[in-house]
Amino acid sequence: MNFYLTTLGTASARPIVDKCQSAHVVNLHGRLFLIDCGEGTQVQMKRFRISKGHLDNILVSHLHGDHIFGIFGMLSTMALDGRTAPLYIYAPRDFGSILHFFLSHFGEGIKYEIHHIPLTMKEPREIASFRHCRVEAFPLQHHIECFGFKIIYEKTPRPSLPAEEQDLPVQQSFAYCSDTMVFPQEAQWLKGVDLIYHEATFADEHIGLAHKMYHSTAREAAQVAAEAGASKLVIGHFSSRYDNLNLLLDQAREVFPATELAEEGKSFEI
Ligand SMILES: [Zn+2]
Ligand SMILES: [Zn+2]
Repeated sequence: MNFYLTTLGTASARPIVDKCQSAHVVNLHGRLFLIDCGEGTQVQMKRFRISKGHLDNILVSHLHGDHIFGIFGMLSTMALDGRTAPLYIYAPRDFGSILHFFLSHFGEGIKYEIHHIPLTMKEPREIASFRHCRVEAFPLQHHIECFGFKIIYEKTPRPSLPAEEQDLPVQQSFAYCSDTMVFPQEAQWLKGVDLIYHEATFADEHIGLAHKMYHSTAREAAQVAAEAGASKLVIGHFSSRYDNLNLLLDQAREVFPATELAEEGKSFEI
C-alpha cells in the first residue's frame, strides 16, 4: 500500500481499557501525517511500529483533551530521541499559548524547531503542499472551534505515455472529519474524496444527545459519505456506552454499505 490510513485510537472522551483516544496516521509513500494525538498515541505508534522519526507534520483538529493530551509526551520523547528536524503542527489558534506554556516548563531539552501553523479558515483552504501532495483544512461544527483535513495525492501524468495508458485515477484523497455535527456544506466539501474517516460517537437511539453535544451518529456519518460519493467510510470516536460496535456499523451500512469500523492498529488503503 502506498497511501493508507492507520487508526490508532477509536475512543471518545472517556478512557476505555482496550482502546485509545483519537490518533490516526496517514502514510503517503513513506511521508507520515499524524492526525490528532490523544493520550497514549506515542505508545500506540510504538506498538504498531510507526516511527516518529518519519513524522514531520501533525494535524490537530481541536483542543479537546481526547485529541491533544498525547502531544506533550511525544514532543518530549522526540527530544530524547535526539530529533533535530523541524516539526510542523497545524492546530487551532489557541494551541500557540498551550505550546508556549509547555515549552516554558518542559522545553529545556527540546533542540528542534516546532512551528505552529494556526488554523482560522471559514471554508476549505490549502495549509501545506509537498511533492505530489496537498493538505487542506476546513471548519467543522463542534462546540469549540474544530477543523477537518483533506490529504490529496496528485500523481503526475507521465509525458512519455499516451493518455489511455496513464495510471488512473490521477488524484486520490482522504478526508478526516473529527468531532462534528453533520452540517449542510459538509458533503459538498468532501465531494470526490476516496476514503472518509468520520466520527460516529452515537447510535440512532442517542441522536438527541449527539446533536446536543455537537457529535454525529453512525447513520449521519454514512449519509455524508453517500452524498459525497466516497468509495469507503471508516467510522470511529465511539462512545464508551456501546459494548457492541456492530450496532453502529449496521446502522451506517444501511445507508452506506462500504463502511468499516476503525480499530486500534488497523490500516485502510486509500
Ligand atoms: Zn473527541
Ligand atoms: Zn471534541
